[in-house]
Amino acid sequence: MDFEFTPKEQAFRQEMRAWLRAHLPRDLQLGSFAFSRADREHVDRLRAWQRTLYESGWVGLNWPVRYGGRGASLVEQIIFYEELARAEAPPPVNRGGLSMLGPTLMAHGTEAQVQRFLPKILTAEELWCQGFSEPDAGSDLANLQTRAVRDGDEFILTGQKVWTSLAHVADWGFFLARTDPAAPRHKGISFFLLDMRSPGIAVKPLRQMTGESEFNEVFLENVRVPAANVIGEVNRGWEVAMTTLAYERDLLTFIRNVSLRMAAERLVALAKKTTRNGGRAADDALVRQKIVSVLIGEKCLQLGGYRSLTRLIQGKAPGPEGSTSKLAWSQVDQELAELAAEILGPATQITEGAWAPDEGQWAYNCLLARASTIRAGTSEILKNILGERVLGLPKD
Ligand SMILES: Cc1cc2nc3c(=O)[nH]c(=O)nc-3n(C[C@H](O)[C@H](O)[C@H](O)COP(=O)(O)OP(=O)(O)OC[C@H]3O[C@@H](n4cnc5c(N)ncnc54)[C@H](O)[C@@H]3O)c2cc1C
Repeated sequence: MDFEFTPKEQAFRQEMRAWLRAHLPRDLQLGSFAFSRADREHVDRLRAWQRTLYESGWVGLNWPVRYGGRGASLVEQIIFYEELARAEAPPPVNRGGLSMLGPTLMAHGTEAQVQRFLPKILTAEELWCQGFSEPDAGSDLANLQTRAVRDGDEFILTGQKVWTSLAHVADWGFFLARTDPAAPRHKGISFFLLDMRSPGIAVKPLRQMTGESEFNEVFLENVRVPAANVIGEVNRGWEVAMTTLAYERDLLTFIRNVSLRMAAERLVALAKKTTRNGGRAADDALVRQKIVSVLIGEKCLQLGGYRSLTRLIQGKAPGPEGSTSKLAWSQVDQELAELAAEILGPATQITEGAWAPDEGQWAYNCLLARASTIRAGTSEILKNILGERVLGLPKD
């Protein structure tokens, strides 16, 4: 197996790296942390950053040219994300639009829908949120209760969503609602695009343990949505949603190892400076062993990611084994957070000021890591998928 990049791909990497050196504003570095998506002003800054990336041709790299992309290869798209993570630059803020809805529209949308929505996803002029989860429909998504009733050339939506990241700043959302309550659970669902400023939508931010309010409850009361905003066929939204979720768990999980590596390298540097039992934390054999365990996990993630990438390059659809990347990443992410707490001790909890290691990054990361095994599929659900669909074990 050859893991080398071609000369063309290496040249692309150098071009991207040089561009970032010249254009990444210093205050956007360590981006995902320093620039919280909970704060509207920060989100506006991140939208401007995506716009800058877009204008230089870096957004929608592997999207076809006719959809406003650059028609680049998947490998180049991965290199782009790797380089962003390496430079600790924030990724495009319109992630739901770019990574999830965009490919879904290309697969299931009409020409009119594609033309209407894709261009403003690329520029971040329209920011998207994902309204799938409900109070009684998370892992068991097909249990969703939000209703959509046809009224002429509109649908009227009523129900509640929860954990809707970015709903407080989003312009649009892709939502699932039940259009045929009499049909079997997976069959009576439709996939809607909602203008988040429609009358009847109330967004209530939820405060997280990080102190931020990045996700929300969304209440829908008689929200009118044009029938033209249904993606795919009415009552066949489950198939559309499966496309969306396949993209949520796959492409971006390939490169999550890079952010882990950057964070691990920073932790190693801190371990060399932190005193412990009269010596440096880095001299402690147990600490060294745990650091190496995280780095091995990171390397396995990288290689697993390349294996999934090979599948995609060969024209195969993302398979259930993409769940392995998400499962393993979340475990290594939490391992790293626990190790940081062990090395830095109480200092891990300091969020700002001279005593806060890495400008408070660890306080934030350690709390945020708790969410890693929940979002985009909990670990238990991913294990069920792997057991049933990869190993062929009996159904849950
Ligand atoms: C940071 C974050 C951001 C999110 N953003 C969004 C968003 O933007 N849009 C959106 O729609 N959703 C979002 N979510 C919601 C996320 O998809 C759900 O939290 C997730 O699917 C789990 O659903 P739940 O919280 O209802 O937990 P439940 O499904 O109620 O699960 C509770 C526990 O039971 C376990 N469990 C459930 N079923 C089984 C089973 N069959 N076998 C074994 N164990 C099981 C689970 O693993 C879990 O430990 C976000 C979540 C987080 C944490």
